[in-house]
Formats: sequence, C-alpha cells, structure tokens
Amino acid sequence: MPKNLWDNGALASDADLLDQCVYGSRLLGIDTSLVLHGGGNTSIKDGYCDITGRIIDAIYIKGSGGDLKSIERSGFAVLPIERLLDLLKLENLSDTDMMRELSAARFDHSMPPPSVEALMHAFIPFRAVLHSHADAILALTNNPNGRLLVQEVLGDSVVVVPYVKPGFDLAREVLSCWKERASQSTKALVLLNHGLFTFAESMVEAYTNHIEIVSKAESFLTSKVRVSTAINPRPIANGSKSEMIAQLRNKISLIAGKSMILSRECGSRIMSFIERSDLERVASQGPLTPDHVIRTKRLPLIGTDVEAFAREYTEYFERNAARSKSSLQMLDPAPRILLIPDLGMFSVGSSVAGASICRDIYLHTAEVIATCEDSLGGWRALDEESIFDVEYWELEQAKLQRSDDKKRLVGQVAVVTGAASGIGRACALELMSQGAAIIAVDKSHEVCSVSDDLNWYGVVSDVTNKESLDFAISSGVDQFGGVDIAVLAAGIFGQSEMVAGVSADNLNSVRDVNTDSVLELMAKLHPLLKQSPTYGRVVIVGSKNVRAPGVGAVVYSTSKAATVQIARIAALEWAQDRIRVNVVHPDAVFDTGLWTEELIATRAKNYNISEQEYRSRNLMKVEIRAEHVGLLVAEMCGPAFFATTGAQISIDGGNERTI
Ligand code: ZN
Repeated sequence: MPKNLWDNGALASDADLLDQCVYGSRLLGIDTSLVLHGGGNTSIKDGYCDITGRIIDAIYIKGSGGDLKSIERSGFAVLPIERLLDLLKLENLSDTDMMRELSAARFDHSMPPPSVEALMHAFIPFRAVLHSHADAILALTNNPNGRLLVQEVLGDSVVVVPYVKPGFDLAREVLSCWKERASQSTKALVLLNHGLFTFAESMVEAYTNHIEIVSKAESFLTSKVRVSTAINPRPIANGSKSEMIAQLRNKISLIAGKSMILSRECGSRIMSFIERSDLERVASQGPLTPDHVIRTKRLPLIGTDVEAFAREYTEYFERNAARSKSSLQMLDPAPRILLIPDLGMFSVGSSVAGASICRDIYLHTAEVIATCEDSLGGWRALDEESIFDVEYWELEQAKLQRSDDKKRLVGQVAVVTGAASGIGRACALELMSQGAAIIAVDKSHEVCSVSDDLNWYGVVSDVTNKESLDFAISSGVDQFGGVDIAVLAAGIFGQSEMVAGVSADNLNSVRDVNTDSVLELMAKLHPLLKQSPTYGRVVIVGSKNVRAPGVGAVVYSTSKAATVQIARIAALEWAQDRIRVNVVHPDAVFDTGLWTEELIATRAKNYNISEQEYRSRNLMKVEIRAEHVGLLVAEMCGPAFFATTGAQISIDGGNERTI
C-alpha cells in the first residue's frame, strides 16, 4: 500500500512552487509500485520572469525521459501556457511538429525537451499535476471490464479516458472527456491501459489525492486477491546451467547484433508465475502500459527458442509496418524477457542498467497479470496495433537513444580475480570504466564494497577452493549471462626462500594460488569464454620474475613461470575458438598488497638509494602504478589486440635483463 510520505519539514522554509514540485515528483518516483525508470511525469504552473522583467503564466513540466526519483529543478522545461493552449486548438498536429513546437516554446533552450504529455498538463485547469503508471490502477484498467471496474472502485471523482496514444491526440481526447464529464468533484483522470493523473491547486494536495486513489485501488485488490497455494521452488538445474545461460546469451547477442547482458531472477514470486499452467496464454498479450514496450518488447519469450522469437517478431513488424505512412526500420528482433520453466526469468539489455530496468518492469507486470487473472475476472492488454505504434513511435525511440551507453566494452562481462586490491582492482575498475560488467572475485570481503555501480558484482571467494570458485562463477553468470573476459590477477609472493632452503608448505601455498587455481579457473571458464559473442579474452598477470628471476624468489618465480606455460598452452589449444590468451608482466608496481612502505624502505636501503629512486628503478625512470597496468590490460581486451594471442607484454619501465 503506498504511504503518504509528504513532510512539510523536509522542504526549506523558502521553498517555491517548483521546489514543491521537485519534492512531490521525487516522492512519486521512489515508489516503484507507482513509477518505474523514467515513467510518469509532473508539472506545476507558476509565473516565469523573462529577461525584461515581465511575469508570464508558465508551466514547469518534467523533461522527456527524466527520472522522477532523482529529478532536480533543472530537470523541468518551462513553457508559456498560452502557447500550449493555442496548439491544442489545432485539429491535427503530427508528433514531429508537436515536439518541434514544444521545444521551440521553451523559455531557455538549455532546458530539457518537455514531456510528450506537456499539452495535457497545460490544459488541466489546476496548478499541480502528477501522472503515474501505478500497478494497482493498471490492474483495474487492463481488464475486459476495465472502465466499469475503475468507476466502481474509484467512484465519480474520477474521469475515465479511453486508450489513445500519448501526444497531441491524447491531449485532445482528454480535453473532450473533461468538457463532457468533469465536475467540481473531479480529482483524477484514469487513462485506460495507461495510468493515473491527479491534480489540485497545491502539490501536496495533488500528491495526497494520488496516494488516496492508488490506496483505494489497492485495498480493493487486496480484498479480492485469493491466497494462492505456495509452490515449492523447483530444484535449479545443476552445473551445466551456466554454460546453457552463456549459450543463450550468445544466440541473443548474435540476433541483437551486439553483446547483450542477461540477468537471471528466480525468486519465489516470479517462479510461481512461470509455473502457471496458463502462462502461455496470460503472458502472450502485451505489456502493462505501452510505455514499457520499448524496454521489454511486446511479448516475453517463453522457453529458449530465440530463433523462433526472432522470426515471430519479424512477422509482427512486417504485419504492422505495412500500416505506417513512413518507412520504418525494424529494431533488433531479440527478446528482452525470457520465462524459462525450472530456470527462472531472464531480463536482457544492451547494458546491465538496461537489463535491470527490464527486470523491474516485468516483475511488476507478472504481479499485475496474476492479480487480474486470479481475482479480477481476467487480464486484457492493449491490442497489438496500439502497442506497435508506441514501440515504433520516434519519440519513444529517442528516449532510448538518449540513455544508450556508448562505451566500448558495454554489454561485455569480465571476471577479475584478486579484485579487492592492487593490480586486480585497478584492472577491474578500468574495464568497468570502459563499460564492462565485472564479476569481481577476491577472498577479502572488501571486494563487495569497491564500487556500488550496477556493473560491479563483488563475490567473496578463495580461488584455491573449488566449491567457492564454482559459486563465484555461476552466481556471476546468473547476474550477467556469461563471461567474455578473464583477468587472473590473484597472486601471493610467499616467503622469500633460497633454493637450498625451500619449505614444502611455502611452495604448496604459493603454487595453490599462483598456478593451480589459474589452471582450475581456466578449465572452468573455457566453456563460457567459448560462448562469448565477442570472442573470449584472457589476460594473466605474470611477473618480471619469469624472465628475470631474483635471488631468494624461487618459489614465487617458478609458480609464475608455470602459469605462463599454462597461458601459452591455452593460447595454442583455444585459438580454434578465437579465444586470446595473453600475459602481462608488471614489475615494481608498489601500490599493491605485495608491497609495504617498510619493505620499500628496506629495499631502497639495500641498494643505497632513496625510496623515490627505488620506486622508479628502471631504464625509463618512471613510476608504475596499478592503474597503468589496468589501462594496459583493458587495452589487451580491446580491438587493438584482436589478432594477438600467446604474447607476453612487459610493463616495467624497461629492464635491461628482459629487453
Ligand atoms: Zn504516461
């Protein structure tokens, strides 16, 4: 049940009308049962002082595609009301003309382009207007008897408007419904298959009306919902599950024409939806509100036949594009939601953010469909044509393009070991800054708090423990759908021992981490890397010691040398899969866990030089930091190295023993 969260104390004493609007918008935006990812819009009418000092009646309306939960004053466009009302007097206005006129009408062109629903906001004769796509309202409207149900539950203070595509035509429709049916007691508009508008003379009242109406709808639903018998979650498929997910991601990416992220959801609520015997029927109708189509596509794929989905999508496009006056370009035909019995729901996006928006939307969709089907006499989505028209509406597509992430590794997934500190951390952060999603593995709990970015999945795992490594990889694949890149950076130095004094314990513990775990992990990752739509890449962090060993470092040097052999052999064996395996040899990178200030001081003293000189003790006299290694490793995973495998690249400032 939504709560009325309005607190006058949260507003500054000098808060103006726009501040109040920002506050009300955010309260609406933080409740995901009301508004999801860029959905909904709000406005406030107030004077605007132009450069001559004249005060003009204006509307402050949310910019198109902005997110209500984090909106600022600058997220609103300001337009003269009179101009918008003039536009509404036209008989016809194309989308392109409407957006051009709305953009041109802004008082300042640095403001965002206004919401496509601006004309409707302008005409509603109240100062404050709030619009959401509340689940509870959609549960009432997306029903064979939607209109009656809304009127029965919400009463006469609500005017019901039939579905019309947002924009000029909808504003005109609302205008005529308003003239016909609005009265003194009208508090809200419910747009069938779309959402709710509330309004009042103040933002607090408009917000309170919004919460009251949604609460009324929710109480009704709660009274109707039958308690379904709990189902026992089915056992999840075993070890080959990750490989199957990676294979699915590969197919989807090939159909989408770019690397995609697949994110798995298998909570009990969505599992019980997927287990429905009527899933095929109820999930094959359409989205909750047309707005969602640009994220989720019209229908989910039930099962795993991605090719069949693409064929059907192409037919759907051809069927509907024939009605269009202009020539349309088909979007990629890959699914965005998959419902797979036994495995769960997968959301698909060209980025982690995209996939998670899809996930949120479909989780809400599944809940509403289940409520309608089980308790309200059935679920009815909009017809195919209306959904298609919104999907291929240039204004909706423009929203998506604005949010597109153009970084070069976006949609790709990298496993990085030793990711909590030093070189591993630097590699992981650099790959992430270039767009990759990271499965960050480390035995330190700090790996979870390195970043709170959606692209960072920190998992605590000891690389020498097979079960924990299995968990790290399979849970990472659940998060992102596969693995394209592996950077194996976890390593330890162990005790400094001479050849004549090597202890078995030291030898075994260093080899466990530096060599055996690498072999183990490579074997686990191979089937996943093979499914990478961008071809797998592995970078192993070696050491200068491989080519230029030092006295007292026999344990460390042999472990790293053996690891280099693993890399070289994998390069030979995996070339047929186009998986590149390369090695980077850093030296004297002092901001890593292997070095402490004391150790640097002792070494400098041994050589009789200053600490600074010791830090840059190489031919070029440069100091090398972990972030430099990160840059090199990210580059080795990029297109410049597409034909390089089995290579060993130094990053050491030049060393006469290895040149
Ligand atoms: Zn809307």
